[in-house]
Amino acid sequence: AKWVYNFGDGKADGRAEMKNLLGGKGANLAEMASIGLPVPPGFTLTTEVCTHFYQNDCNYPKELTQQVEEALALVQTRTGRVFGDSTNPLLVSVRSGARASMPGMMDTVLNLGLNDQTVEALAKKSGDRRFAFDSYRRFVQMYSDVVLGIEINHFEKHLERAKEKRGVKQDCELLPEDLEKLVKSYKAVVQLELGEEFPEDPNAQLWGAIGAVFNSWMNQRAKTYRQLHDIPEWWGTAVNVQAMVFGNMGNDCATGVAFTRDPSTGTNEFYGEFLVNAQGEDVVAGIRTPQELTIKARKSHGSELPSLEEVMPSIFKELLSVRSQLEAHYKDMQDIEFTIQQGKLYMLQTRNGKRTAPAALQIAVDMAKEGLISKSQALMSLKPDLIDQLLHPTLDPKAKKEVIAKGLPASPGAAGGKVVFSADEAVRRSKDGDKVILVRIETSPDDIHGLHAAEGVLTTRGGMTSHAAVVARGMGRPCVAGAGGITVDYTAAKLTVGSVTVSEGQILTIDGSTGEVMVGEVPTVPPQLSGSFGIIMEWADEARDMKVRANAETPADARQAKEFGAEGIGLVRTEHMFFEGQRIVAMRQMILATDENDRRQALEKLLVMQREDITELFKIMDGMPVTVRLLDPPLHEFIPHTEAEMASVAKAAGVPLDRVRRRAAELQEANPMLGHRGCRLAITYPEICEMQARAIFEAAAEVGRTSKKLPVAEVMVPLVATTEELKLLKGVIEKTADAVKKEQGITFTYKVGTMIELPRAALQAGKLAEMAEFFSFGTNDLTQTTYGLSRDDAGSFLPEYKAKGIVEQDPFVSLDPDGVGELITMAVQRGRSTRPDMKMGICGEHGGDPASIEICERIGLDYVSCSPFRVPVARLAAAQSAL
Ligand code: ADP
Ligand code: MG
Ligand code: MG
Repeated sequence: AKWVYNFGDGKADGRAEMKNLLGGKGANLAEMASIGLPVPPGFTLTTEVCTHFYQNDCNYPKELTQQVEEALALVQTRTGRVFGDSTNPLLVSVRSGARASMPGMMDTVLNLGLNDQTVEALAKKSGDRRFAFDSYRRFVQMYSDVVLGIEINHFEKHLERAKEKRGVKQDCELLPEDLEKLVKSYKAVVQLELGEEFPEDPNAQLWGAIGAVFNSWMNQRAKTYRQLHDIPEWWGTAVNVQAMVFGNMGNDCATGVAFTRDPSTGTNEFYGEFLVNAQGEDVVAGIRTPQELTIKARKSHGSELPSLEEVMPSIFKELLSVRSQLEAHYKDMQDIEFTIQQGKLYMLQTRNGKRTAPAALQIAVDMAKEGLISKSQALMSLKPDLIDQLLHPTLDPKAKKEVIAKGLPASPGAAGGKVVFSADEAVRRSKDGDKVILVRIETSPDDIHGLHAAEGVLTTRGGMTSHAAVVARGMGRPCVAGAGGITVDYTAAKLTVGSVTVSEGQILTIDGSTGEVMVGEVPTVPPQLSGSFGIIMEWADEARDMKVRANAETPADARQAKEFGAEGIGLVRTEHMFFEGQRIVAMRQMILATDENDRRQALEKLLVMQREDITELFKIMDGMPVTVRLLDPPLHEFIPHTEAEMASVAKAAGVPLDRVRRRAAELQEANPMLGHRGCRLAITYPEICEMQARAIFEAAAEVGRTSKKLPVAEVMVPLVATTEELKLLKGVIEKTADAVKKEQGITFTYKVGTMIELPRAALQAGKLAEMAEFFSFGTNDLTQTTYGLSRDDAGSFLPEYKAKGIVEQDPFVSLDPDGVGELITMAVQRGRSTRPDMKMGICGEHGGDPASIEICERIGLDYVSCSPFRVPVARLAAAQSAL
C-alpha cells in the first residue's frame, strides 16, 4: 500500500481533491507544487496511516519506514542537502494536517534535524551563527514543548533572563553566544524534567515528531474540538514533512500570512501581515507588531512600519501574481502562509479562507461578476447559515457610549455581556444564562469552548490573523483583537485601561466592526443588509422552485417576514393570539364555562380579537396566502397550576375558585401530546371551530371589501387522523363561510386543508385529499409520532444516541429522511393521485433547516414555511437544493 505521497519540483503524487487522504494542508501543498508555485519539497504520511495506527495498538504499517526513507531521499535530492549531514544538513518541518483545519492538534515542529553537529554546519554554510543558533534554540524549545510535553514556561524563563542579561528587548537581538548558551540551558531543562537527554539523532527526532502528531489526534483538546465541530474520529490526521526554508536569516528574510481578499468585508483587496527576520508562528503569536502587505493598508491602519510593497517590491509583485493564480485556480478566497528566504518567495500553505458572513456574500457576488465563477457556483459557495449571522444586531449609532479602548476590528457585530477572563468561566456563566464577553491577553486552541460560549471576544495582543480573530470570524462571534491599551490581570480577575477598572462580572460591550470597547451595555440596532445580500437573494429567487413562507401570528412578525421575502404565511398558530394580556382572560372564561351558552359568550369576545388579528395579517400579506390553523394545544395549557394563580384566574374570570380547581383537574391528561388537542377540540366543541372560522371569514370579507388584492384564506385543521374528522369539521367551516357570505352580502374564496402530522393521516392521504384542498406537513408532531419520541423528553437520552452514532442528527432539528421523509413522500404521492394540483408544504421547525429543505425539494413540496428570521436562509437553501 502507498502510505506516503511526495511533492516538490513542480510535481506531486497528490491533488487538492485528495483531502480525505492527505489532509487539507498536504493536499493543497501537493496542488500548489503541481501548478508550479514555489513550494519547498516534502512528503505527506496519509490519514490512513493514522487509522492504521489506532486500529493496531499504536503500530505503524510495516512498509512505512521504508516509504518514509525513500521520500526523505527524494527531498534530499531535490534540495541537494542531506538529513543529519555534518556539512550540508537538510532540516525539515513536521506539520499535522487533518481534513479540516483543526486547532487542538499537535503544533508544527520547525528546524527538525538540528543537533550539536548539524548546527555548526548550518552556521558555517549560512555564514550566520546567530541564525543557526536561533533556529536551534527554537527547535529545542518547540520539540520539547510539543513532542516531549515539557512546560513551555521553563524555556521562556531562560529566554527572558538571557535578554535581560544582554539588555535587549527582542529575541532577534540576542548574540550568537547568548543563543548557544540558551540551547544548553534548554537541554538541561529537558534532562531535569525528563531524566533523559534531548534526542540528538535526527531520525529519532523525525519519528518522535511523527508519533506526536498521530498521538495528538486523540488528545483532549482535539477531541473537544471534534465534538464541537462534528468531526468524526475515524477521519484521522495526516503528517507533512517538508524541507525548511528560513525567514529568520536576516533582513532580506520574512514570514507572513495573507488573505487574497479582505476576510472581514470581502473587499477585493490583498490583505495580510508579515514580519522581517522571523519564523513560523511569530506573526500570529504577536511577539512583535506585524507589518502590512500593501501601502494602502498601512495608510488606512495608520501603521508606522513600512509595508512589504515598500520594503520588498519585487517579492510583493510575485506574491500578487501568486494571489491571482491561486484565486483563478481554486475559485475561492485563499488564506495563505509564505516565507521569504534571502529574497526568494516560498509558499507554505493555502486553504479556502475563513471569512465573516458579509465578506462571504461580497466575495461570492464579486467573483461571479468578475467571471471567476458562475451565479450558481456563487450560490452554492454560501452556507445558508451564514445568512443568519448577517441578521444580527450592530451598535445603535445614536446610543451614548463610553469608549475606553480600541483594538482591531477583527470580526464584525456588536455584543455586550459580563466580563470573564477564562474560557472555563465563560462556559460556567453562560450555562447559568449569562451573556459573557471573554477577555484574554491572547487565545489559544485551549480556549475554544470559551469562545463558543461567549457573545464576543476581546484580546489585548495579536492581529487580524491571530487565533482569536480567526476563530471568532469562523463562529460568527464579534471580536476585537489586540486592544493594547488594556492591561489584563488574570489573578485579580480584572482589566484596567487608564483610570478605568473592570472586574469580572461587570458589563462590557465590544464592537467588532470598529474595534471599540465600551463600559456597560450599549443598545444595538437590527442589521443593515448590504447590497450583496440583496443580489444573492435575487439570484436565489431565480434559482429556486419552492416557495418560502413564514410562520407568524403577530403583525410585527408578519411584516418582518415579508421584508425578508416571505411569500405568504404558512402557519398562523391561533392559540398564540390568546396568550397575551387580557385575551387570556376571555380564553379562560371560555374554558371554565359550564355549558355551551356560557362558552358562546366567552367565544364572542375571542371572536372580536381573532378577527382583528387575522384582518391585519391579510392586509399585510396583501394577496399572498395566509394559512390559519385552528386551535391546537390541549386546553390545560391555558390554566395555571399553582393555588395562587388559580385564585387570580377565578377572580379575573369571575368564577368560584373551586371551579377553576375542578376544571384544571378535569383537563389534566396523562399524555397531553396525544390527548385532547388539535381537531379533537373542534370535534368536541364545534362552537370553537365555528368562532374561529367566522373570525377568518369576516376578516376575509372585510379585507376583500377594502383592499385591492383579495385575501387568500387557507383554513387548516390540525392533528387529523381520519377522514371523518375532516369531513365533520369541513362541514362546520363551510356552513360558517356560507353564513358570513350571506350576512355580509359578499363572496370570497378560501380553502380548507389539513395538517399531516400523524402517521395515520400520512397513510390515509389519498382519502384525505378528497376532502382536503391542501396539505401542510407538521413535521414536529409527525416526527414525535413516527419515532414514538416525545420532543420534551428526548433531551435526556438523545445526546447519547448522537454520541453513539445511532442517530446522526437530532430528528427534531433535521428531518429524518428515512422514516419521516418516507411517510411524507408517500403522503404526497397518495394525495396528488387523488388531487393532482394540490398544494403541499411543510410548516415545522424543519422548514428553516437547510438539510431538511433539501429533502422537501426532493420530495416535491411546493413550499416551506419557517420563522421570519429564517426566511432568507430558506430562500438560499431552497435555491441550493434546486441547483
Ligand atoms: P498550522 O497548521 O498551525 O498553520 P503549519 O504547519 O502551517 O501550522 O506551520 C506553522 C508555520 O510554520 C507556517 O505558517 C510556516 O510559517 C512555518 N513553517 C512550517 N513549515 C515550514 C517550512 N518547511 N519552512 C519554513 N517555515 C515553515
Ligand atoms: Mg499554517
Ligand atoms: Mg402539531
